[in-house]
Amino acid sequence: MFNSERCDLCGDCLVLCPYVDYSRDEAVDQFGRLMEEDAPEILTECVTCAGCNEFCEKGANPFDLILARQEQTGIPHIPEENTRMFRGLADVPSVIIPGDSDKPTLSLCSVGDIIPGLFDGPLFKGMTILKGGDYFCRLGYIHMGLETPVRENAARFVESLAAGGAEEIVFYHNDCYSMLALKAEEYGIEVPFKSIHIIEYLLDLVKKHKDNIKPLGMKIAYQRPCASRCTPLKDEYLDELFELIGVERVERKHDRRNALCCGAPLMTRDRKRAKEIKKRNIQDAVSHGAEAIAYLCPLCALNLRKTASAEGLENHHIIELVKHAVQ
Ligand code: SF4
Ligand code: SF4
Repeated sequence: MFNSERCDLCGDCLVLCPYVDYSRDEAVDQFGRLMEEDAPEILTECVTCAGCNEFCEKGANPFDLILARQEQTGIPHIPEENTRMFRGLADVPSVIIPGDSDKPTLSLCSVGDIIPGLFDGPLFKGMTILKGGDYFCRLGYIHMGLETPVRENAARFVESLAAGGAEEIVFYHNDCYSMLALKAEEYGIEVPFKSIHIIEYLLDLVKKHKDNIKPLGMKIAYQRPCASRCTPLKDEYLDELFELIGVERVERKHDRRNALCCGAPLMTRDRKRAKEIKKRNIQDAVSHGAEAIAYLCPLCALNLRKTASAEGLENHHIIELVKHAVQ
């Protein structure tokens, strides 16, 4: 939620935005017009990465104002047929695969099958698996300039997850974790279970197997998903995980706070610009010595892997890296 009382109209949010090139005066003008309920150009230019919520040091949440104005004005205009794949995630049949009572539950959302075989093998053995549309948080609607579908489904999403009575649930999809860690409270929804981020789960597991790790010795560029803007502290867990499995996370321009969106949101409305952003992202990885790119979000992997392969990079999900390292 935008906190107008915290905003001093400094313009930092839009000066730091990596997708526009505003001077300080232009940034202040654009943001001031947003606050006056005008429809400035940033409503079209914004790729909905949510980065400015992380850039604003006063905690005003500027992206939440941009999103609210996008929804009010209908800008950007995205044809509904261009978003069919995303909307269809809500209709993926829901399945519960029962596991051992002493193991935590794992929610795969509707995106668990995008990378085939990822959850096969001992790392997730015995866990109760939840997957399908009932466990899809819909946070991705923000990339279409819409928050209402996220808010309207939030209580049902939490109820579906809580229905099995699990005390702890591990979340594969970063969006779902961010929804529970941040948005649920904002919407006044109580979450009756402990949410565990997949990176925390993997880190804990790797620590338990630390005597059986074969260091990978790889230089990797990390593709930080947009939803990580809600939970930036998870970066420290990832650093620790990479160190334990022998992965060097290359210090490139477009990582951490300066990460670039994978381009998927823009593919629905401006493919040329999306391709430019993907290319900028991957060339940054290559120029900083990465030999591979590591993904957390399967949708980032789906969207970036061809561009990465064309530049000679291997593509790996973080889970695959852990599987290779743990003997
Ligand atoms: S939202 Fe934050 S960064 Fe943007 S103008 Fe207001 S105070 Fe500055
Ligand atoms: S959400 Fe991302 S693209 Fe949009 S204004 Fe903020 S930083 Fe720029």
